[in-house]
Amino acid sequence: MHRTDRFAVKQISRTIGLLLGLSVIGLVPTSRPQALQSAAQGLRLYVLDGGTIITNHPEGFGLTREQVKNTNFSCAVYLIVHPRGTLLFDTGLGDRYFGRPFNESPLADRPDPPSTAGFILVTKTLKSQLDEIGYPPSKINYLAFSHPHDDHIGNANDFVGATLLVHRGDYELMFGPNVQINPAYAALKNSKTKMIEGDYDVFGDGSVMLLFTPGHTPGHQSLYINLPKTRPVVLSGDLYHYPEDLKLDSMPDREKAPGVTEASRKKLQAFVAKNGAQLWIGHDINFFSRQKHAPQYYE
Ligand SMILES: [Zn+2]
Repeated sequence: MHRTDRFAVKQISRTIGLLLGLSVIGLVPTSRPQALQSAAQGLRLYVLDGGTIITNHPEGFGLTREQVKNTNFSCAVYLIVHPRGTLLFDTGLGDRYFGRPFNESPLADRPDPPSTAGFILVTKTLKSQLDEIGYPPSKINYLAFSHPHDDHIGNANDFVGATLLVHRGDYELMFGPNVQINPAYAALKNSKTKMIEGDYDVFGDGSVMLLFTPGHTPGHQSLYINLPKTRPVVLSGDLYHYPEDLKLDSMPDREKAPGVTEASRKKLQAFVAKNGAQLWIGHDINFFSRQKHAPQYYE
């Protein structure tokens, strides 16, 4: 190779290296087809602390203790503020656990928790966090759960004034004919309820979408938020529990054979790639600890 050619090649590879570096730290826009066009100005996403599950039983999710860095779960609650209204996505473990020792608070209030049980720790009430940012329950227009399991519905009854956005499969789990209704959300039976099918555009401008991702429950849903300054974000509920699930494609045993979770993961991954979105796993406690929490917000 001629000397000047070598110099030119060096310059080009330096430039490529610089661009790659910039793109990693977010200074060079990556391609975001269509996504930004429907971002709503003024859209905000608050991450709230819905408590922690102290647990060391990743085997229940198809993983070993060696494979998982941190087996405890954060229980993130998300408030989306849109010019046309507000949406609360999940409601955490429950303010009634505030101040109680975790070893006296087994998940689902099991009377004789086995050694594999999870324990609940709530160090801040959801109510106080919402009050602090000026969005008490009376200012929440829409309520949606990723799914109605105990760690997502703890404070549900506080939001009876909101319109519940739910897929029929999960509504049947909550209020179906032979179901023992969980007291933590019993009041919602009288809420205004919108039964949704497939993906659902919450505010009608494509910027906030509930994505139908069944498997963990029959009506499980994820949430897409196209924030104008932050990259688009997808909240994946319990489609994934640990970040390790992304690499190892692990899941609870009962979800393996039906293939529904697998199909939803494929759908969501394709959506994430197409929209240049970030995937946020609400139970990823290490990630949660690095995030901005209310009163700070993403926009
Ligand atoms: Zn969960």
